[in-house]
Amino acid sequence: MDIFIAPVKFSNVQLLKNLASELSRKFSSKINIIDLHIDIDNFLSKERGQYFSTQIIAEAIKLTGEFNGKVILLTEVDIYVPVLTFIFGEAQLNGKHSVVSICRLHEEFYSGESNDQLLLERANKEMLHELGHNYGLVHCLNWDCVMHSSPGIEEVDIKGTSFCRSCASKVEHFKY
Ligand SMILES: [Zn+2]
Ligand SMILES: [Zn+2]
Repeated sequence: MDIFIAPVKFSNVQLLKNLASELSRKFSSKINIIDLHIDIDNFLSKERGQYFSTQIIAEAIKLTGEFNGKVILLTEVDIYVPVLTFIFGEAQLNGKHSVVSICRLHEEFYSGESNDQLLLERANKEMLHELGHNYGLVHCLNWDCVMHSSPGIEEVDIKGTSFCRSCASKVEHFKY
């Protein structure tokens, strides 16, 4: 069972490499970076200036039905679901697919100052979080756990960088 990272409208090659190597340290699964050639232009809401994440996932499912493993779509565009102002990511609970946006993980978005290390840490947390949902995990009350809910950037920064012991035990191929 592999993990596939599929960049979609994503240009930060260094961050992509760093995220893949972070995942390699944490999972015994093979980590692959793939190009799905997904066209998401139709999923842009002109009123909101954001892309509808559920439609991005649905499009990816069409292209990766045969894949044996988890597929994480990684994007720089801002994403949403209709009931929320924005989201950092969306995942299928007990499924194969997720999408993570780094748009609002950039420190520039908040303070105007760029911070590559913080961006990596935040993106790593949100990828692990969405993967956790793929492995059936729901939100965890433990603030040390990456499965704690994080509706805003403050919660992303406060919560831990990995799974708590209880959550980790339910994630296949997780090393520690
Ligand atoms: Zn969640
Ligand atoms: Zn937990």
